[in-house]
Amino acid sequence: MMTYLVNVGQQGTRGNYVWYIEGTREKILVDAGGTVESYLRVMGTQPKEIQTLDSGLSRLGLSFGDIDLIILTHLHFDHVAQASRFPNARFLIQKSELEFAENPHPSVAWVYCKEFFSGLNFEVINGDTKICEEVSVISTPGHSPGGQSVSIKTAQGIAIISGLCTIRDNFEPPSPITLPVITPGIHTNVIDAYDSVLRIKQMANIVIPLHDPEYRQKTSIP
Ligand SMILES: [Zn+2]
Repeated sequence: MMTYLVNVGQQGTRGNYVWYIEGTREKILVDAGGTVESYLRVMGTQPKEIQTLDSGLSRLGLSFGDIDLIILTHLHFDHVAQASRFPNARFLIQKSELEFAENPHPSVAWVYCKEFFSGLNFEVINGDTKICEEVSVISTPGHSPGGQSVSIKTAQGIAIISGLCTIRDNFEPPSPITLPVITPGIHTNVIDAYDSVLRIKQMANIVIPLHDPEYRQKTSIP
């Protein structure tokens, strides 16, 4: 599901994460996470190695009410299922993603669950946008019509959280593939999706694929 026409039929492991950006004035998360129930219902898969959002936040000394801003990469269920738990957050979303999600095409409607995002305190933007000195979002459509990725200045260069559902193979294709990137397996536009993954790869010193399993054991990047 992650790599278009590659790794077909192979079993894979994927992670589903909420990211916290350290060092900004406002307290910012990227995405609001899935739930076990939503994975079972939408994908028919049983998540393992569950770290709750509650325990992740408390390890950082944070509560749900402390979060000021949540940048939503897109509105698929696994990135927004717990959004309503944040009472004080604004939710940054691309205009084209919100419009599509409110009336999704039948071919991909199964990944959009309106009960997870209707009524949120949205801050709607259109295209590349600077959020603060350290953080910007860039438009990366293709996996979904209005997907956005998050660019963060770090001590080791620009880190970009891919807003397209991807693993490391999308950015570093295994041999014998000679293309620079692999298109995400789920997409609404195959060419945009390829170009967006390539854009991230070219802009970033540190690429963070949205679903790569390597982050299960990590507590910070870089
Ligand atoms: Zn996803």
